[in-house]
Amino acid sequence: MKDLIKGAYEEGIKFADEGVVADYIPELAKEDKSKAGVVLINKDGDIFEAGEVEKTFSIQSIVKVVAYLVALEEIDPERISEAIGVKPTALPFNSVLDVELGGGKPRNPYVNAGAMAVTGLLYEKFGDDTLDLVLNKVRDLADRDSIEVSESIYESERDTAFNNRAIFYMMVARGVFNEDMPVDKVANMYFRNCSILVNAKDLARISSVIANDGLDVVSGKRKFDEKYGRTLRTVMAMCGMYDNSGEFALKVGLPAKSGVGGGIISASPEGIGIGTYCPGLDEAGNSLVGQKMLEIITDELDLYIY
Ligand code: GLN
Repeated sequence: MKDLIKGAYEEGIKFADEGVVADYIPELAKEDKSKAGVVLINKDGDIFEAGEVEKTFSIQSIVKVVAYLVALEEIDPERISEAIGVKPTALPFNSVLDVELGGGKPRNPYVNAGAMAVTGLLYEKFGDDTLDLVLNKVRDLADRDSIEVSESIYESERDTAFNNRAIFYMMVARGVFNEDMPVDKVANMYFRNCSILVNAKDLARISSVIANDGLDVVSGKRKFDEKYGRTLRTVMAMCGMYDNSGEFALKVGLPAKSGVGGGIISASPEGIGIGTYCPGLDEAGNSLVGQKMLEIITDELDLYIY
C-alpha cells in the first residue's frame, strides 16, 4: 500500500503543469500548483501518505458535504427536500441559470446554490449560532481542534462574491426563503465555511469517517449516525464533481467531492477514505492531479463501485 500511494503521487504530479489555479477568488490565485499530497486510510485505520500532506489550503466546496451532514442531523427532512434537490447537473457549480431553470430551487446540496441554501436552513433554526456549527463539525470529523478559518481567503471571497449573492437573492425571489432572510449575512457564513484551512490528512480523516458510515476508525469514536453515510456518499457520487460527475464516475468510480482550493475527498463504501490535494484544476473546477492519483489508486485496489 505504501508503494501504491507513493507511485500514485509520483505519477499524478507529472500532470501538475496542466492544471489551472482558481483565480475568481483573488487569494486562491496565489496557490502553488506544483504542490500535491495524498493520504489513504484503510478500514483498520492505518494511514498511508505521500507528498505535502501537512500543507494547508482552503476546503472550499468540500465543506458542502459537512454542511449537508449538519442539515441532515438538525433540519426536518421535508424542509430540506422542499428547499434543495438531489439532481445531478450539467451546468457549472456557480450557475445562475441552473437556479433560475430550477424555479429557484438548487439542483443539489453540492453546488453553490445548494450549500448556501443549506446555510439558510441552518440560519432559520439557529440564527447567529449558525456561524460556528460547520467549522466545529469539520474539526470533529477531521479530529483536529486547531482547524481555523483563513481570514484573508474569507475576505477575498466575501468581497468578490457578486455571482453567489445573485444566486442567493434569486432563491428569495422565487420563494425558497422568505424575505426576512438576511442574505448577505448568511452568504458570508457560507464564504467563511469555504475558507476553512485543512490539509490532505484532514481530508482523509473526513473521507474515512464518511466511508465508514460515521465511525472514525482511527480514533474509534462515532462521529455521526450511521444512517447518514449512504446519503452523503450517494449525493457525492451523483453531484460531487459538479458537471463532470459522470466523467469522474467513469474514470474513478468512487463517491467524491472536490473544492476549488484543490482538495478532493473520496469515500469507498468498503471503508477506505482518501484525501488528495493539488491546486491546479480542470475545466469543471476539480483538482487535476488529485483525479489522476485517485484513478491510479482505485484502479489498483479495484474500488470502482459501479
Ligand atoms: N467558495 C467557492 C464558491 O462559492 C466554492 C466553489 C467550489 O469549491 N467549487 O465559489
